[in-house]
Order: sequence, then structure tokens, then C-alpha cells
Amino acid sequence: MKLLVTQRPSYINLIILSYIFYEIKNIFLIDLIIFFFSYIYCDYWLFLLHIFLDQLQTTKSSIQFISILAKSFQEHHLDPKAIIDSNHLSDIDKLLLFSNLPCFLYMIFYEITDTNSTLIKFSLFTSILGIIASTNHYYCHAITHKSSLIKLNLQYKIFSFLQKKGFLPTNEYHKIHHIPPHECNWNFLNGNNKFLTYLYLLTEKNYGLLRLLFYFTNPISITWLYFSTQIIKRYI
Ligand SMILES: [Zn+2]
Ligand SMILES: [Zn+2]
Repeated sequence: MKLLVTQRPSYINLIILSYIFYEIKNIFLIDLIIFFFSYIYCDYWLFLLHIFLDQLQTTKSSIQFISILAKSFQEHHLDPKAIIDSNHLSDIDKLLLFSNLPCFLYMIFYEITDTNSTLIKFSLFTSILGIIASTNHYYCHAITHKSSLIKLNLQYKIFSFLQKKGFLPTNEYHKIHHIPPHECNWNFLNGNNKFLTYLYLLTEKNYGLLRLLFYFTNPISITWLYFSTQIIKRYI
């Protein structure tokens, strides 16, 4: 009998995230505010990533990595069942690696201060939420396509519980996105879907704006820009 695939990030990402978590050491109650903003941001970013990669124009991007990613997103519409035989988290491994690498390198070569620890925590929380959201997407499809096997998986039980309690989108909800023309229910977290739908309506008529938001508000651009500025500030 074929079992569901355990979802996990790559070992290098596990090492980097564990190191960051260990080095931060103290997580205070005030960090709940950072967590809150990480949640809002992660919900926004995953939504934006999804609407950008679902666009036909994105498959024609001159950046090969982006066009490949867009094609794989759109193939998921054609064959939604295929996801259950894969470690879906491998799809976000590069994103996790390149967005946390500047935090990791900065922590190794320079000391962490109160100021820069905010962005390090923000990046860590966003990564954890991204991992949770992608894993939940996998289980949404597992429930839809492989219902007789799901009970065998411990991870599934945890995610099923979180779905039932309303913390994460359910398979019934995500299933609607898979009905052509795939123009609703893009979110992977239960957050500001109503507000984000307005963002979709705005960018639907303006691909330039969508592309601009994708390249300038993604977690890789944010962390690299922030830590480059921090390093430059130390030497001037
Ligand atoms: Zn889609
Ligand atoms: Zn899906």
C-alpha cells in the first residue's frame, strides 16, 4: 500500500532555521507582535506568489527560474493529484534558503542587536508559517485524492485538527481554486483573503504592478536589502 510522503524542508534549511532559532535564544511576549506581522506578511506573500505564478504571462518570463516555477504551478491545476507523491516543501526550499541566508551569515559574522533581531525573528516566523501553509496545501490534496490512506500519517492528523479548528484552509475550501478558471481561493493561510482579493482585482488589469510587487516585496529581496544596508552602515 502506498503511503503519504512526509513533508519536510531540505536538511540545509533545517540546519539554518534551527541555528537561527537557537541563536535568538530569548523569545519574549512582545515578539507576538512580530509574529502577528509575520502572519499578515506571509498570508500576503503566498497569495501574491500564487496569483503571479498562475498568470500565463509569467510562464514567458525571461528569467528561466521564474518561468519554470510558473509552469509547475499551472501544471498543478492540470494534475492536482500528482502533488501527493512528492515532498511539496521542496518547492519552497530555494525561497527558504535564499531568504534566510542573509540572516544566517549576518549572525555568524556580526553580533545580533535588538534592532536587527526584529528582522531575523520576522524572517524565521515567516519561514515557519510558509512551511505550515505549504504542508497544509499538501494535506488538502491528500484528503481530496487519497482519503483512505490519510489516517496512517501522524502529520496529517495534526493538520486535520488545525483545519477543523479553523486555523488553516480546508480541502473543501482549496478544492474550489481547482475549478477552472482558477480565479478564487488563492490563499494558503486563513488571513486577509477578502482584502487580498481586492489586490488580485487591481493587479489583474495591471501585470506591471503585479510583477513589481513580486520582485520588490518578496522575502529574499527584503532580507538581502536589509542586511546589506546593515553591513554598509557599519563601515560608513
Ligand atoms: Zn493556482
Ligand atoms: Zn492545490
